[in-house]
Amino acid sequence: MSLRTKFMLALLLTGLAAVAVVGGLAYTGMTRKVDLIRREQAMEHFYSTATAYLQKYGSWQASPGKEGFDEFMQSRERSGPPPLSDGAQGEDRRPPPPEGDHGPQGDERRPPRDDRGPQGEERGPGEEGRGPPQGEGERRPRGGRRGEPPYRFILADQDFKVVLGGGVYRHGEALPEAARKDARAVTVDGRTVAYVSPEGVITPSKQELQYLDAMRDALWFGVSGAAVLAVALGLLLSRGLGRTLGHLTKAVRAMHGGSLLQRVPVEGKDEVAELAAAFNDMSEKLARSHQELQESHQTILLQAEQMRELSVRDALTKLHNRRHFDEQASTLFSHAVRHKRPLAMVIGDIDFFKKINDNFSHATGDAVLRQVGEILRSHMRLSDLVARYGGEEFVIAFPETELPQAAALCDKLRGIIESFPWHQVHPELKVTMSMGVYADLAAGTAEAMLQKADALLYRAKETGRNRVCFAA
Ligand code: GH3
Ligand code: MG
Ligand code: MG
Repeated sequence: MSLRTKFMLALLLTGLAAVAVVGGLAYTGMTRKVDLIRREQAMEHFYSTATAYLQKYGSWQASPGKEGFDEFMQSRERSGPPPLSDGAQGEDRRPPPPEGDHGPQGDERRPPRDDRGPQGEERGPGEEGRGPPQGEGERRPRGGRRGEPPYRFILADQDFKVVLGGGVYRHGEALPEAARKDARAVTVDGRTVAYVSPEGVITPSKQELQYLDAMRDALWFGVSGAAVLAVALGLLLSRGLGRTLGHLTKAVRAMHGGSLLQRVPVEGKDEVAELAAAFNDMSEKLARSHQELQESHQTILLQAEQMRELSVRDALTKLHNRRHFDEQASTLFSHAVRHKRPLAMVIGDIDFFKKINDNFSHATGDAVLRQVGEILRSHMRLSDLVARYGGEEFVIAFPETELPQAAALCDKLRGIIESFPWHQVHPELKVTMSMGVYADLAAGTAEAMLQKADALLYRAKETGRNRVCFAA
């Protein structure tokens, strides 16, 4: 289920539940309140009539033969409206005559009349709210069936013996304890002469039912309105939410694909907008950090390369150093042996270099070393390997070169060094180099070949210097 659907369902359920709870509580509360008011009004009316009757006659025992309770009540009502209890709204809200409004004789019947309930409920002649004649022996069900009086009042004497049973209790029967609790005492001259007790439950009048129906309709309108509102709100709110989340999902996928710098639109000022803004910040910082990381990675790579270069270079001449030469010479030797290709090894040594240092200065000696290195480097092929081997000694490996070519090339280098305009460095400076060249792979290793070349160099020194000695 999509987030949008969940969101709308949540809104819908919340709206409906709120309307149902509030409406239901209001409906129930209103029904109860209406019941209570009616009951109180009716009770008040009956009580005032009973009190007036007993005040007039003193007691039930004194009243027989004089005037029935029904007649008394009718005459009271004929003579004017009964006193209304609090909240009564005029004639239409007058409480109904009580169910048990028979005279003590019980055989007296009040003539039919146009009677109304508290809310003006019409009653037919046969449903005037009377109970059966006293002593009839029939017990009516409690509560108000439609067409029956909604509730009744029981009248008992001072000993709780039923005088008017409201169709529920027989004359002379003792009023049960439960009914006594709600009984209200009627006092005449400070003496309790009777008790009035309510009985039965209230059935709403026609008007009340219409009123409650109208409330129920209003409740349904409320529920339908809440549902429509919830759906509309859900659509409206979830549209913005869904759009922003869509942008975020797309942006996250793009980041996952490698494009770290992403921007999503920030709409409004709610939490979703905050999320979008925070995402943009995060993406920007992440992209910047990644850029810095890449730059620093490049720097590290460059520095590593420089370090590696430094570790294989001679600081003075910038030629490769001995360690690098030894590694590479072994590789060249193996390659030459495997492919049966020629390889020549050369070692050269500047003649009387100590004297150069001594006669012209150590700095001049350094300048000579740098220049000799430059001459050697500038005359090498890309595949040749040249290095400063230590002091004023230089080594060269010529791959794919037979001894005669190597010897000739070395002699050419020797001549170039000799004829270099050293007087520009120092007027009296002269520099020469002796070299030994060896090109037989049978020596077994590159190191062994170099030792053979060194022996040939020694021979060159021995035989007058500034020369190249070689052997196959
Ligand atoms: P030979 O002709 O027999 O080779 O004699 P030589 O003087 O060249 O050889 P020797 O081994 O006696 O002297 C080499 C000198 O090179 C000794 C040393 O002070 C000097 N030397 C070694 N390295 C450097 C350097 O980096 N710079 C300078 N200026 N001199 C160096
Ligand atoms: Mg030397
Ligand atoms: Mg030397």
